[in-house]
Amino acid sequence: MDHFLYKSGQLHAEDVPLAEIAASVGTPFYCYSAATLTRHFRLFDEALAGVDHLVCYAMKANSNLAVLKLLADLGAGMDVVSGGEYRRARAAGVPGERIVFSGVGKTRDEMRLALEGGIRQFNVESEPEMEALNDVALALGTVAPITVRVNPDVDAKTHEKIATGRKEDKFGIPISRAREVYAHAARLPGLKVIGIDVHIGSQLTDLAPFEAAYAKVADLTAQLRADGHEISRLDLGGGLGIPYERSNADPPLPSDYGAMVQRVLGDLGCEIEIEPGRLIAGNAGVLVTEVIYLKEGEEREFLIVDAAMNDLVRPAMYGAHHDIVPLDEAAPGAETHLYDIVGPVCESGDTFAKRRALSALAAGDLIAFRSAGAYGAVMASEYNSRPLIPEVLVSGDQFAVIRARPTFDEMLNRDTIPEWL
Ligand SMILES: *Cc1c(COP(=O)(O)O)cnc(C)c1O
Repeated sequence: MDHFLYKSGQLHAEDVPLAEIAASVGTPFYCYSAATLTRHFRLFDEALAGVDHLVCYAMKANSNLAVLKLLADLGAGMDVVSGGEYRRARAAGVPGERIVFSGVGKTRDEMRLALEGGIRQFNVESEPEMEALNDVALALGTVAPITVRVNPDVDAKTHEKIATGRKEDKFGIPISRAREVYAHAARLPGLKVIGIDVHIGSQLTDLAPFEAAYAKVADLTAQLRADGHEISRLDLGGGLGIPYERSNADPPLPSDYGAMVQRVLGDLGCEIEIEPGRLIAGNAGVLVTEVIYLKEGEEREFLIVDAAMNDLVRPAMYGAHHDIVPLDEAAPGAETHLYDIVGPVCESGDTFAKRRALSALAAGDLIAFRSAGAYGAVMASEYNSRPLIPEVLVSGDQFAVIRARPTFDEMLNRDTIPEWL
């Protein structure tokens, strides 16, 4: 459920007509709903109410400082995957003890940053990384709390580019080698083993792969404890999918997921961490764009809009579907057209949807891509020298620009021409 609904024929974000924001900030822009972000965070928090837990928002989904602050104020921890994200989390007021650090390629500088600034744990993904972290911690005269990310070899049955828990994926250590790797970690004085981490992929629409992975984690917990390790925390990753197409069957709810987690892992006496990203932010955001031209091709009708693949890359990168709706609600029973909705970038891949049924639209009309709050703005680029588009946060009847559109001067001033040219 989200808070982007028609009221009096106008698509609103909570109580604000999106057309009013468009008139104020210009198109295209991202708009997020504070009530939806809040609701989604609480669903996860409540789903694990029966166990000691922390919901660590995977901030790579949407790392705007205002979004982070809103979630942090609700009690969220953060899952970060770079020094830049760590700095953002801290800038948003998240204390170090609520930040977990994931990722296969943490540098020594990033490790130092987190150890000095405060960290809940590192989710370590390889033995070379373990050795590096040990060195950095010892040099700082401290001890780094770690979990080891295990790869349970389950197929999340999701998009190729976002499956992470199969043998052939680059993430974690094979679960078959876990005992060896934990023994290695235990010999390193700069590390303190506290638990196990797993994350099998993103946009999962079935609980079965999660349950298969978590059952393996339960077995491994017993095994590692028998080997003498302290396993007091289980980080279960993120990955629960969202309904990108409203016409499809709905994926499992956070409450179903939480019940399964408690059933499979609830008796181990461990603190549970989860790292949802997409489910918290995805349906909490839309991208609003204006139709520049309606172009009648020989076999196609093209709606050329002012947003492009550089603003929202998911369709070009993953073949992803986004529901598209007009800001002016279509009259009931209105005739529909099959439009190809494309951006201005000079690539055929700059196509948001093909043969999408929509009521008749014309140049100047505004449409919204739904489910654009996660992996939208954060993946944007300035390809074709298109400035990053603004982000707006709505709460009730108020809205604020939470990232302004840069000026062209700001863009150009980032480059320098050497004096010898
Ligand atoms: C991307 C990622 C997540 C979040 O995945 P979602 O599908 O957005 O919930 C969580 N943990 C790790 C380690 C990730 O890489």
